[in-house]
Amino acid sequence: MPSRFSIRDCLPAYSEDDCAGALFAAKWPHGFRCPRCSHPSYYEVSSRGRRLFECRSCRHQTSLTAGTVLEGSRTPLAKWFQAMYLMQIGISAKLLAELIHVTYKTAWLINHKLRDAIGQWDLERPLEGTVQLLGEYYGYEYHRHLGSPNAQQSLKPQPVVAGGTINDAEQFVHLKIKAVDGPEGDGAARRDTADGEEAAERFVQLHVADGHTTILPGGHHGRSALHLAWRDAVRWLSWTFGGIGPKHLQAYLNEFAFRLSFRTAALAELIGCCGSYRKITYRGLVGPRSGIRPLMWRFRRRARHERNAV
Ligand SMILES: [Zn+2]
Repeated sequence: MPSRFSIRDCLPAYSEDDCAGALFAAKWPHGFRCPRCSHPSYYEVSSRGRRLFECRSCRHQTSLTAGTVLEGSRTPLAKWFQAMYLMQIGISAKLLAELIHVTYKTAWLINHKLRDAIGQWDLERPLEGTVQLLGEYYGYEYHRHLGSPNAQQSLKPQPVVAGGTINDAEQFVHLKIKAVDGPEGDGAARRDTADGEEAAERFVQLHVADGHTTILPGGHHGRSALHLAWRDAVRWLSWTFGGIGPKHLQAYLNEFAFRLSFRTAALAELIGCCGSYRKITYRGLVGPRSGIRPLMWRFRRRARHERNAV
């Protein structure tokens, strides 16, 4: 695929020093602070080839990556920064592994740790102002003809709500796309009442701090920025990853929304996230997560039926 070569060609060659400087600024935007006593000055010491910061007051030693998303990683900083750079495009772990010369597992972990930092960032920043909402489904159209029956089971349609604030140029100031938890238990009757409005209300409770919301009509013909963003998200998930199951769907949606919210500033923001959030462990990533429960097929059919009736 020719596109692979063009990505590789434009991959910046960061130096470890530049990366260390950028991570330092992200971790301590107001200058060094001792994590134990908050003292603002340090000695630089080196221990077994590692660069450490020793507090001038309490002698506590800390490293640049401690308490950041990169903590404990043996991957060079420059590769982490290249991975962050590539997250502006949104590539698979397989391609990332190839481009920055790490194993698939390392690439997968880096991508997911970055997504987790984005998720933590997102949790702390609710939408404000004039918020548009759109209820959609992920999965049905795109996987109907693909995969084994088992794979299809895990790819049942996931109800998703997208919400965003938009500037005069129809660009997102802030976009969130959230998979909606299915209703508890197996109550088929309840499921019928779990309609778009209920999901939208829940979204507002969880993700909108202060503002006035409008719900856009769903469907494949919408031309609003939200409709287009949702279709782009689905296309990205299908073409880059061959579709995403319910377990990690939210992490990918967070990544996509982050990219659209920041556009050209996404890399700088991502570096900021990495310096200020703790890493998630491998176990935390692969372990069972309370998350999205698949809904029944008829939920989708009902929605489609309604759409045709309009
Ligand atoms: Zn100290």
